[in-house]
Amino acid sequence: MSTTRSANWQKDVAHVVHPYSNLDAHDTRGPVVITRGDGCYVEDENGNRYLEGMSGLWCTALGFSEKRLVDAAMKQFNALPYYHLFNHRSHPPAIALAEALTGIAPEGLNHVLFANSGSEANDAAVKLVWYYNNQLNRPKKKKIISRLYGYHGVTVASGSLTGLVHVHKDFDLPIPQVLHTDCPSYYHFSQPGESQDQFAERLANNLEQMILKEGPETVAAFIAEPIHGSGGVIVPPEGYYERVQAILRKYDVLFIVDEVICGFGRTGKMFGSDTFNLKPDMMTVAKGLSSAYLPISGLLLTDQINEVLKAGSRKIGAFAHGLTYAAHPVAAAVALETIKIYQERKITDHVQALSPYFFERLNKLADHPLVGEVRGRGLLAAVEITADKAARKPFPRKPPLAPGSRTRRWSTA
Ligand code: PLP
Repeated sequence: MSTTRSANWQKDVAHVVHPYSNLDAHDTRGPVVITRGDGCYVEDENGNRYLEGMSGLWCTALGFSEKRLVDAAMKQFNALPYYHLFNHRSHPPAIALAEALTGIAPEGLNHVLFANSGSEANDAAVKLVWYYNNQLNRPKKKKIISRLYGYHGVTVASGSLTGLVHVHKDFDLPIPQVLHTDCPSYYHFSQPGESQDQFAERLANNLEQMILKEGPETVAAFIAEPIHGSGGVIVPPEGYYERVQAILRKYDVLFIVDEVICGFGRTGKMFGSDTFNLKPDMMTVAKGLSSAYLPISGLLLTDQINEVLKAGSRKIGAFAHGLTYAAHPVAAAVALETIKIYQERKITDHVQALSPYFFERLNKLADHPLVGEVRGRGLLAAVEITADKAARKPFPRKPPLAPGSRTRRWSTA
C-alpha cells in the first residue's frame, strides 16, 4: 500500500462514486491516484509512470504539460474570469472561438452553440431538432435514430442516444423518442459469407425499413460517431455512410455527427466527417476542443437550421436555451489556443505521418491467438481480444480477463 496515503485512505476515497466501477468489488483496492502529467505520460502517487495511450478519456490531444494552454488560461483569468452569453451579451474569447471553430469545421456549419460537455452538446442537439421541427410545423417529426454500441453521453437525452445496455439499465433509459439501429461492426455482426459491401447494404436497408415502419413523418434525425469510440473503435465498412446519407436525404432526416472523439485530427483529417465524407446538419465537439484542459463543448449548425431558430425567436421571444458556464471565457481562451496549436503544428499531417507506423506495429499483434482483429484509422485504434479467434467469441464476463476490465457482450438485442 502507498506510504503517501493516510491510514484511512480506504475511508477517504469511499465517498467518491466512480463511474463504470463495480462499487462493491472495487472498494478494497481503491482507485489509481494520478498526480502528475508530462507530455504523453502520467504518474501515480507512488511515482509509477504510465504511457497514457488513451489520452485520458480520448481527450488530452496535446499531452499533459502544454504550457501554452496554461498561459492562455492565466491571461484570460486576469482579463475576465467569467462572463456569460445570455441576454445579448458576449465576450472576445467566445466570439474568436466561434470564428476559429466554424473556420475549420466541415463546409456549411457556420454557427455554434457552446456547452460544457459532450453529453450537454448532444442533449442540445436533441432539443434543437425538436424545436426546429416545431417551428416547421411538423410536430410529429421528433424521433431520433442512434446506433447500438454508439456512445453519446449519459444525461437523459444523450444517455438515451447511447446504445449501451449498462448506460440504460435501471436508469429508465432510453426515452421513447430514441430508437437504435444496427452497429456497423463487420467483425461482430456480418453474416457468414457476407462481403463488406453486402453488410453495408443490409444495414442501410434495415435503417430504411426502420424509418418506413415508424413513418418518415415521425423520424427527425439520425446520430452517429464517424467511428464508434467507447463502443469499441468500430470503423464502418466502405460504402456504409454513402448509403446511409442517401436514405437520410430521401426522408428529410437530419444528420447529427458526434465528433466528440473523432474531432480535431484523431482520424487523420480535422474531423471524422472529413475522413468519411459526411455532410452533417449538426455536429457536436468536446474533448479535443480544449485538449480537455478545461470543460467546453459545442454544437455546430448549418445556416438553414440557424435561420429556423431565429424565426422561432422572432415568434416566441427569447431563444430559451443556455447554460451559465457555456463558453466560459477561460475555457474558450484555452480552446482557441488549442485550435491555434493544431493549426501551427499541422496536427493532421502529423497524424497522417505517424499512422502507417502505428498500424504496422499494431498489425504485428494480429496473428496472436488472443487477437481477433486490429482496426482503426489515423491514431485511433483497437486490438480486439478474443477467447476464440475462429468463432470471434469474447471472454466470459466473469471472472474478468484482467483486474478492472470489462468484457462486452456483443449482441444485437
Ligand atoms: N460523445 C462521444 C463520442 C463520447 O465519446 C463522449 C464521452 O466519452 C460523449 C459524447 C460524452 O461526453 P462527456 O463525457 O463530456 O459528457
